Amino acid sequence: MRTGKAAVYEAPNTPFVIKEYPVRPAKPGEVLVRVKMSTICRSDIHSYEGRRPNPCPGILGHEIIGTIVEIGAGVSKDMRGDSLQAGDRITWSECFHNGECYYREVHDMPQKCHGLRKYGHDLVAEDPHFLGGFGEYCYILPGTWILKLPDELSDEEATPINCGIASMASVTEAAEIGLSDTVVIQGLGLLGLYGCAMAKARGAKLVVGLDAVADRLAIAKKFGADHAFDIGRAKPAEVVSAVRALCKPDGADAVIEVCGVPDVIPQALEMLRIGGRYVLGGLVNPEANVTIDANMLVRKWITVRGIHNYHPRHLIQALEFVLAYRGRFPFKQIVDSKFALGELDVAFKRAAERSVLRAAIVP
Ligand SMILES: [Zn+2]
Repeated sequence: MRTGKAAVYEAPNTPFVIKEYPVRPAKPGEVLVRVKMSTICRSDIHSYEGRRPNPCPGILGHEIIGTIVEIGAGVSKDMRGDSLQAGDRITWSECFHNGECYYREVHDMPQKCHGLRKYGHDLVAEDPHFLGGFGEYCYILPGTWILKLPDELSDEEATPINCGIASMASVTEAAEIGLSDTVVIQGLGLLGLYGCAMAKARGAKLVVGLDAVADRLAIAKKFGADHAFDIGRAKPAEVVSAVRALCKPDGADAVIEVCGVPDVIPQALEMLRIGGRYVLGGLVNPEANVTIDANMLVRKWITVRGIHNYHPRHLIQALEFVLAYRGRFPFKQIVDSKFALGELDVAFKRAAERSVLRAAIVP
């Protein structure tokens, strides 16, 4: 029987262990892929550092692309109807759910089905073993949305599509960014950089990026940010007044949170104009407590929305956005380092300390 290697996450904050598991044929409804590239998402780091529960021993990683090895009975097309064959390079949704779902049928929220599963969140000891990004193979299970990748996209451009970029398609849609809007993005990691670019693509007149990492402020300008402020150096009140001065006449139309730090919430409320929209997408860990003056929500007519996961349409939008704008924004530069499976510890260290933008694993 064929076998494959995986970098196993045995417990938080302990080194990954390379192990070998059997690779069985794809069952009906499944697709077996050889992983081409996986990138380390911030949520992998949260799991690795023990801030959110994740089954272990397991295989982390959900931002993945792969080449089809074998297609199980009953699968012949991707989510847009393009035929799938062995050898095709594909991306697929980080979440999957097979079966009936109240949220999908009634509220058109398939991304929040009860019992929803995610790649990179299963026990490796159980069949089919390979359900994460940091291994040589991955099984795509029934209920997953699959999308064939066009040859013109590089692996670096394609890998973040199914988590970071699709999530930002969802977040920027919820922020209702329109022509001539002024938009503030709190956090300039991968999500924030794509947020800047998408805000511009959706018609924003002015995009302001906020972060405390100097390198990110510089790169944000290449991704559509007109201004980038170092919030590590300035006091919150100074940042608020600088942003308000740029967003004439009375503050930003929309603010987007993708930094994962609850302390930035009060500043967003102050930056917004009356009737402004605030969308939060980065606070994925529990206990994100913060004190706000809720009177501001009332007097300023502020709309606050939380966004978690994405709808299947956002996966298609993410791919089409990258294809349409890869000439205008340097998406390739975001995946700025590559590591082998055996170097996963180093890759996680670099990603956690933010010395790389998006670390890629090429198993
Ligand atoms: Zn992710």
